[in-house]
Amino acid sequence: MKALCWYGMNDVRIDTVPDPKIRDPRDAVVKITATAICGSDLHLYDGFMPTMEKGDVLGHEPMGEVVEVGSAVTNLKPGDRVVVPFAIACGSCYFCAKGLFSLCDTSKPNAGAARKAMGQSPAGLFGYSTCWADSRRQAEYLRVPFADVRPLKNPAGMPE
Ligand SMILES: [Zn+2]
Ligand SMILES: [Zn+2]
Repeated sequence: MKALCWYGMNDVRIDTVPDPKIRDPRDAVVKITATAICGSDLHLYDGFMPTMEKGDVLGHEPMGEVVEVGSAVTNLKPGDRVVVPFAIACGSCYFCAKGLFSLCDTSKPNAGAARKAMGQSPAGLFGYSTCWADSRRQAEYLRVPFADVRPLKNPAGMPE
């Protein structure tokens, strides 16, 4: 698939990268139909965030259509149109149980590096270097971990 990749300060390019696949029963794969550029993306573009690596895919504000779900995802099905929030949340840790999804303790793949970079590690974050997640959104497809927790279904007939 095509994706927007980071190569260094003020250097982003459209590259071809592997298509995402279901890796966990709670994953979904979403075909991105609309995405935004956020002020948070500028922290990556201007080199402010220290954990980016060449080829990292950017993006964290997408809408799209579900194309595949893992066996444990019962709230979504192929064809559903969804908005996927920035912070990835497991739905059952100490913080998620209180609705504090941006602090999820389970979804961060590299909490030690994130803590070193920022003082504390937030939840896993899409499109914010492999320090926070390995799924990204300014691309044709997105793997959504814990897809049974946060994606919001668009009401039928509502335009993007
Ligand atoms: Zn944002
Ligand atoms: Zn959690």
